[in-house]
Amino acid sequence: MVRTRFAPSPTGYIHIGSIRTALYSYAYAKKHGGTFILRIEDTDKKREMEGGVEDIVKALKVFGLDFDEGPSTPLRKLPGNGGPYSPYIQSQRLDIYKGKAEELVENRKAYYCFCSEERLLELREKQQKEGKKPMYDRKCRDLDIQESRKKIADGEKYVVRLNVPSGRKLGIDDKVMGKVSWDSDEVDDQVLLKSDGFPTYHLAVVVDDVIMGVTHITRGIEWLASVPKHILLFEAFGYKMPVMAHMPVILDPAGGKLSKRKGTVSVEDFLKQGYLSEALLNFLMLLGWAPDDDREFFSLKEFVKVFSLERLNRASPVFDRLKLLWFNGEYIRKYSTKDFAKKVLDWTREYCDDEKMKKAILEDTDLTAKLELIQERIVLLSEAVTSLQFFYERMPVPDTKTVKGIKRYEVSNLKKAVVDYAEVISRYDDATSQWTHEDWEKNIRELADKYKIKHGDMFMMIRLVICGSPISPPLYESLVILGKQEVLERLENFR
Ligand code: GLU
Repeated sequence: MVRTRFAPSPTGYIHIGSIRTALYSYAYAKKHGGTFILRIEDTDKKREMEGGVEDIVKALKVFGLDFDEGPSTPLRKLPGNGGPYSPYIQSQRLDIYKGKAEELVENRKAYYCFCSEERLLELREKQQKEGKKPMYDRKCRDLDIQESRKKIADGEKYVVRLNVPSGRKLGIDDKVMGKVSWDSDEVDDQVLLKSDGFPTYHLAVVVDDVIMGVTHITRGIEWLASVPKHILLFEAFGYKMPVMAHMPVILDPAGGKLSKRKGTVSVEDFLKQGYLSEALLNFLMLLGWAPDDDREFFSLKEFVKVFSLERLNRASPVFDRLKLLWFNGEYIRKYSTKDFAKKVLDWTREYCDDEKMKKAILEDTDLTAKLELIQERIVLLSEAVTSLQFFYERMPVPDTKTVKGIKRYEVSNLKKAVVDYAEVISRYDDATSQWTHEDWEKNIRELADKYKIKHGDMFMMIRLVICGSPISPPLYESLVILGKQEVLERLENFR
């Protein structure tokens, strides 16, 4: 039975790379009819953020990466308080780690250490001066267990350290990185249980992977260096080493790791900018994995069918933001108008900061007609709000001297042409077929000739006055939606 897990720390924001890791773990489990677990690794209290767990659950939900076991929260209610190994939040499992640490000490796989901070610091400085790798010198390794327990009972501060054997080769055959091995003499006697009773990452992660029966681990390359310690721990617990796949770092096109300093990296920020979760997910599928043909579009279901660990790439992928934008535009165009409208409404409800526009869009009973005009033209959901704004608000007309093409005409001449156009429109009957595309075009062309304005420039001028921007949805259709009266007023106001 395949069991995979996503084990994030609730640090306040979810890096897009974490969703990639979660996606691959999810896909592997689902492909093999297995179980996908969410486990919250929050034993590092310094890094924890309020609401972090709910944020993670929410992000997974947005992407459709439904976990089968994990913390049961209002957003994802699971029976049995989350599953058979509940709780799935590490800070609620402290007794388990403590018990397991004792078990390791009992079996000589770990030992109590009473060295003070000062001693450890001195040791490190000395080793550094001598050009040696800083490592614990095992002073406490051979202390008598009973004596140590007495000291502990007397209230002495202690930690539990891993008893790393010497002279062993520790290796894995990583699904992405290939064969990797370490010399145990290079491995430090890692602290497993800290003096405050909290486990370190190493103890907690292995204990939980063992108890929860995890068979496959997909995670970031930054955890590869911990593997030799984990091998010893899995061995100490008599557990078959899970299959491992360490994903390479995602590179920023600007060089180096994908990082906050260089652009958006958090899931929330991408969504707020107007990216669709489906497009993001599709983009992430191909960021480190490749199908055996050049197919690019996959729904989550389709991806699950074709995914395999063998096709994960070892080379670091570059986070091509233009490609992501392209994916987003393609996804926007794939939707039916109805689905597109739903996406725009959802986005507006959740992320639109402009309260006036938010209200206008959410209350618009004729939104679909407007959205039809922009669906082909936008690449981000947020652009729906900016490109629809002129329907709801009269926009300031840009200075004609700043607009290409238009700037060569006398302002007074342009104004006359616009007012004259209002005169033409006033003769239209809103209720009859006179308001046709052909008439409309013909009228503007005639007017342009009268004022010696190029046809294209005349259209542009009307666009500027009506929409407040040289870029807008198709002009004629927009005028029809605005209606005669509103168009007239906008034209006449331009005096
Ligand atoms: N808690 C680790 C993280 O924040 C998990 C590493 C692992 O998957 O073992 O990514």
